[in-house]
Amino acid sequence: MTTGIWVLGDQLYAGQAALAQRDEHKTETPVLMIESRQHGQQRRYHAQKLVLVWSAMRHFAAELKDAGWPVSYKIAEDFATPLRQWIQEHDITTLQVMEPSDRPFLTFLQALDLPCDLEIIPNNHFLWSVDGFKAWASDRKSLLMESFYRAGRKELNVLMAGDEPVGGQWNFDKENRKPPKGKLDTPEPLTFAPDEITQAVIETVQTADFPTFGAVEPFQWAVTRDQALQVLDHFIATRLNTFGPYQDAMVTGEDTMWHALLSPYLNLGLLQPLEVIEVVEQAYHEQDLPINSVEGFIRQVMGWREYMRGLYWHVDEEYFDRNFFDHDRPLPDFFWTGDTDMNCLHQVIDQVQRTGYGHHIQRLMILANFALIAGLQPQEVEDWFHAAFIDAYDWVMQTNVLGMGLFADGGVLASKPYSASANYVNRMSDYCKGCRYNHKAKTGDDACPFNFFYWDFLDRHRDKLKSQGRMNFILANLDKMNPEDLDEIRDRAANFF
Ligand code: FAD
Repeated sequence: MTTGIWVLGDQLYAGQAALAQRDEHKTETPVLMIESRQHGQQRRYHAQKLVLVWSAMRHFAAELKDAGWPVSYKIAEDFATPLRQWIQEHDITTLQVMEPSDRPFLTFLQALDLPCDLEIIPNNHFLWSVDGFKAWASDRKSLLMESFYRAGRKELNVLMAGDEPVGGQWNFDKENRKPPKGKLDTPEPLTFAPDEITQAVIETVQTADFPTFGAVEPFQWAVTRDQALQVLDHFIATRLNTFGPYQDAMVTGEDTMWHALLSPYLNLGLLQPLEVIEVVEQAYHEQDLPINSVEGFIRQVMGWREYMRGLYWHVDEEYFDRNFFDHDRPLPDFFWTGDTDMNCLHQVIDQVQRTGYGHHIQRLMILANFALIAGLQPQEVEDWFHAAFIDAYDWVMQTNVLGMGLFADGGVLASKPYSASANYVNRMSDYCKGCRYNHKAKTGDDACPFNFFYWDFLDRHRDKLKSQGRMNFILANLDKMNPEDLDEIRDRAANFF
């Protein structure tokens, strides 16, 4: 009777549930890791994402070996062939796998016809279990993130003073929307030069005969837990203090502002959400940091991240095909090239090509907002996001893109669409300054497409939007619009592509 463990590529933590429960028997527990080339081609991925995942896997395999686990690391076309071989070679009678984070992979795993038992161990990389989220959601009409977040704060006793939130408020978001005015003294991100292992993966990706997205170099991401912990320390030392106020601001040439750059590591298991929250809370108490920054950050990790993952497993399969507005416009080519005169889109897509990274407002209010108001087909947009970002996984992509970004779920997640005109882009960024379009104009040859698409979106979906109570104020402005302007707006939106 031999128990073996297959460690998946986003489960790179020595304390992950399957490894943790065999720790006392590690020397007699074969461990398998597989780098599948087919998996890397199932869809297009950012070249740096492939490097990050494969390099982090190789580093983790080496760490497990050093710790005494008998690890087999296979580079293969698919998963099933090396898995079956390894099961036979090691006489495995029970294969243990920590529950995959993504639904398609769980389906794939369960459909494998293996010559041994398969035991799926509950995933311990999140604060909430899938069942815990379902229990929270089951008796509610609306699944408001804010209620979920407060329940989490109480349950885990994070930023609490007895039964009350520290600072007297649950949420300091209003203080975290400063536009980027004047010279901002932004901190440098912590970067890492590729070591030999990473260099070898870079070469593999460079010479791969399948399509990827974006530049593979310079590759500067952390690839081990030790490096990821350094990024966390660096965030606390140089970024957390000012994380809050400029959280929504966008500046040309400033790829990261005060953001944490932690999602790639959290999503791979190199960092655990609870340890991140705990050190940030500790820093708040020890260093007297501003509550709006600390609470703002903790809400992202404890609230939004857990909520997105809980919702992803809570909804039915049909959620992923939803298209509330029946949008069917194909994704324009410039999403793949950055080649557009709209400077905001050009800057953000160019940044994503170079780095695989964009911060939340770049993703939500530039990329997804444009896709929403221009009526792009939601599942195609989701595919693009999945291809473009270093931290993209099915569990985090689907609800963020379909629910938050595109309102394709009709309001399961958000109480109104995150749609905005150029006015927002101009307020929260400097992108409009370098643009050939006029951010103030919604008609005329220099009208900013964010304006005519925005008003056209409201006009086209007036009936559906009317039922979203929070949209009535803005629809009243649409009613006041001069009919000739509205005709021109419709024309421009129809003919833009
Ligand atoms: P910070 O701004 O410093 O935030 C701290 C942490 O909070 C992040 O590292 C992340 O782990 C967590 N977080 C914050 N918001 C969310 C959220 N909405 N969902 C999940 N985690 C959150 N996040 C991903 O990890 N992968 C994705 O593929 C992804 N795609 C997105 C697509 C769209 C359309 C939108 C609107 C958001 C998406 N997000 C995604 C959420 C968020 O934008 C990123 O987590 C964040 O920008 C990562 O950068 P950071 O680590 O510097 O984050």
